[in-house]
Amino acid sequence: MTERKLKIALQKSGRLSEDSLALLKKCGIGFSNGLGKLRSEANNFPLEIFFLRDDDIPQYVEDKVADIGIVGENVLRENGRDAAAIEKLGFGKCRLSLAVPKSFEYEKLQELNGKRIATTYPKILGEFFKENNINAEIHTISGSVEIAPSIGLADAVCDLVSSGSTLFTNGLREVETVLNSQAVLISRPDLEADLQKTLDKLLFRINAVNSAKQNKYILLNAPNEKLEEIIELLPGMKSPTVLPLAEKNWSSVHSVIKENDFWEVVETLKNKGAEGILVLSIDQMIQ
Ligand code: ATP
Ligand code: ZN
Repeated sequence: MTERKLKIALQKSGRLSEDSLALLKKCGIGFSNGLGKLRSEANNFPLEIFFLRDDDIPQYVEDKVADIGIVGENVLRENGRDAAAIEKLGFGKCRLSLAVPKSFEYEKLQELNGKRIATTYPKILGEFFKENNINAEIHTISGSVEIAPSIGLADAVCDLVSSGSTLFTNGLREVETVLNSQAVLISRPDLEADLQKTLDKLLFRINAVNSAKQNKYILLNAPNEKLEEIIELLPGMKSPTVLPLAEKNWSSVHSVIKENDFWEVVETLKNKGAEGILVLSIDQMIQ
């Protein structure tokens, strides 16, 4: 019997497309993705890929057209019912925020009572207002939310922001965060056992790629009398590897460090006498 393929839905073209494809490639999954293609099959993993509009992905997953998908948490919360997020993916980071025209002297949320707010996220915004006891009028529009106040359609907006530059160029000021979002892997409930097995395999690889992203591989040379202090700074996966150098009384130290504290650690290492420090990216990390 041939193996049943797991079907994954990805955004066809947009902010999540490139990172979603790159993730699959880093997981060692090979496929062709010619421009304009709606469907593709992996050539070394039981995976079939569908390219869709992001807003439709939760629905397709719930209707079993696909088994899993990659979407922003914003889209899952707005359009999803039964599909669940099973893994945060660390890209597509943004926030859904309330913003007001610069002339609006905003101080607190209560000032939005009775106001008209334009958004493409009526469900999430409605829930947010309910939780905070705000009675505002939500105007659902399908795009270009940021121009709504200047054409007199709304008093404020609720829209996705990453840098805030779009808001700024439209004379708007961000005042509240409604939701923090990033891309997530979603799945329909009750996957059949064979598909679940394939998903577990994929998740194992995604975890390896994501832990690698948060870490760096570091190599350095150190005088032996400083080794102890240097090793203390470099816990590594188990403990650092120490190899003797051809030069007497010197060693080479290899280890793994967290991306976050990487600059700080490198500076301290240098001060402690480390030389020839090399820092490399890691593709996959299996713990
Ligand atoms: P589609 O044609 O697939 O419907 P779209 O225009 O709705 O595309 P994009 O703008 O490509 O969608 O955004 C896709 C997702 O990227 C968003 O739902 C959100 O999760 C994420 N994202 C990250 N940063 C931003 C941002 N600054 N603005 C909008 N979305 C962002
Ligand atoms: Zn969309």
